[in-house]
Amino acid sequence: MITVKDKTFVPFIGADTIEQRVAELAAQISTDYEGKNPLFIGVLNGSFIFAADLFKKVVIPAQITFIKLASYSATESTGTVEEVLGLNIDIANRHIVIVEDIVDTGLTMTELLKTLKEYQPLSVAVATLLHKPEAAKKKVELKYVGFPIDNKFVVGYGLDYDGYGRNLPSIYILSE
Ligand code: 5GP
Repeated sequence: MITVKDKTFVPFIGADTIEQRVAELAAQISTDYEGKNPLFIGVLNGSFIFAADLFKKVVIPAQITFIKLASYSATESTGTVEEVLGLNIDIANRHIVIVEDIVDTGLTMTELLKTLKEYQPLSVAVATLLHKPEAAKKKVELKYVGFPIDNKFVVGYGLDYDGYGRNLPSIYILSE
């Protein structure tokens, strides 16, 4: 058991399991995007570790950039999406792979996909480390999912609780 800020979490997905699954996703993406020169777009802050680990294992020519948006506070999704910040590479006629830490209600991803499509990319796919299928309020096509998980709050491997816990190498889940 660990404490992050004022809440207790228990081990959920170990670092080795994460590493192995990230390698599988990178291999799959490398096969699917061979010859397509994809542009990965990491969604900050939560995806920074997943994006880095995933990108290191991609074996085809590819680029990566990061954007930032804010839609979440503490442990409850607000579903409001703010501006997309930092998109400084032209995505027109590019194959885009969005890299996200977790898709919960799907509201953030729905809004982000709508915004990105206005810039006329050739294709947009989503790679998310975690997905909470039971929390879905919007149906989003997720091409690459690391782990489907229960509808509970998790931290670690880039995911935070009120800014803390991102540095944990494994993923932990809120204890009952
Ligand atoms: P959605 O719009 O899909 O409900 O929310 C997506 C965002 O909410 C994620 O990018 C993430 O920042 C945050 N989020 C959703 N569930 C969790 C969770 O269990 N733990 C953490 N740390 N963040 C979460």
